[in-house]
Amino acid sequence: MPITAIKGMTDIFSPEVELWQTIEARARELFESFGYREIRTPIVEKTELFARSIGEDTDIVQKEMYTFPDRKGTMLTLRPEATASIVRAIMQHRLYNIPTMGKFFAIGPMFRYERPQKGRYRQFHQIDAEVIGSKEPIVDAEVMYWAMLFLEKIGIGSTELHINSLGCEECRMPYKRSLVDYLKKYEASFCRDCQRRINTNPLRVFDCKIEKCKEIVKEAPRILEFLCGECQKHFDSVRFFLDQVGCSYTVDHHLVRGLDYYNRTAFEIIASGLGAQNAVGGGGRYDGLFKELGGPDIPAVGFALGVERLMIVLGENLPGHEIKKPDIYLIALGDDAQKTCFLIAQNLRKKSVYVEMGYELKSLKSQMRRADKFGASYVVILGENELVKGVAVLRNMTTKEQFELSLDGIEKTLAEKIKKE
Ligand code: ATP
Ligand code: MG
Repeated sequence: MPITAIKGMTDIFSPEVELWQTIEARARELFESFGYREIRTPIVEKTELFARSIGEDTDIVQKEMYTFPDRKGTMLTLRPEATASIVRAIMQHRLYNIPTMGKFFAIGPMFRYERPQKGRYRQFHQIDAEVIGSKEPIVDAEVMYWAMLFLEKIGIGSTELHINSLGCEECRMPYKRSLVDYLKKYEASFCRDCQRRINTNPLRVFDCKIEKCKEIVKEAPRILEFLCGECQKHFDSVRFFLDQVGCSYTVDHHLVRGLDYYNRTAFEIIASGLGAQNAVGGGGRYDGLFKELGGPDIPAVGFALGVERLMIVLGENLPGHEIKKPDIYLIALGDDAQKTCFLIAQNLRKKSVYVEMGYELKSLKSQMRRADKFGASYVVILGENELVKGVAVLRNMTTKEQFELSLDGIEKTLAEKIKKE
């Protein structure tokens, strides 16, 4: 049996990979206008980093991590998300001391041991952004605006932004008490996980995907009614700035996100056409995470978009997506002609002309067929007769016109012809 890829992990190739490249290029462009700089962290980290940041009682840590010992027995985990690694890197290299460097982005694969289905894979990709160093609500709004603008720019206009506030330590205490009182009334009806969560991490109950649990929590108390003065002011400001920039949103009272480190702003972006996997992205503020991981007290806010889900929503609709066709296809007839063609091909490529050539010495007819399949604009034919005469035949594949070109300086002649078009 030939070896196949691991379940839930996919190969990405043409023509889809061109879509990926376009999406990534658009993200990079937009990040640049907002002053984000790229950060590339390893895809493996010590397990402890994720367990401590994401939270012991989250689905990710409990069920979804790819964790294994290395040869010395150190427990390692394939990153399930990007924030923890980025925070670790920022602390390790003290990047917070560089005043011009507070906005970071990363694009790359993440790993979660989930049941593979449409929009849910074991290796998937995220476009991730993190802004550190400011508590200001203006930053939360700007981060969300980036995401919404990006979606619009790649042609996904019909998404919904859902926002909520998770308050701070102070307002979450009384809220948790009230929530637990409510949940306890229905304890027996909850799934096993939620029964445990009621005691260990009650907010996680909102994250449960089981219908029965979702039904019960619909009537649960709302955190917004418990916000302290400062958190209320923060949330109001976030809303003000979103309104100001024309970014519409819905307040979703039970939005908590699947990670423990969020405080105040939490948000999610929902798209249609994804079925149960309807979130294309999400994020929020995490003012306590740096300190929690043993670093200085640095507020931060960020988000991640799932690239596979963007692809599903986009289908084939990404504007400007086209597979490049060769400018020139070289056909050699005979050994000596092939040697000359080989040189011409490399010289043209040096001049940034896209050249394909027939590597096999087949008949003219069969090589022409291949050139046609590539959709080449021009074909250059070099047979033994032409070689003796010091010329090659240039055929315009659209007009079918043909004429001879001198081999002397042919690269320059061809490159100029292509550039003119
Ligand atoms: P979900 O509720 O769908 O499981 P999540 O809350 O676990 O999502 P996050 O951790 O916030 O997701 O990750 C941000 C985005 O990454 C999601 O909105 C989604 O687009 C994408 N994503 C998360 N897990 C997967 C996965 N297993 N396969 C594909 N995309 C994923
Ligand atoms: Mg999940």
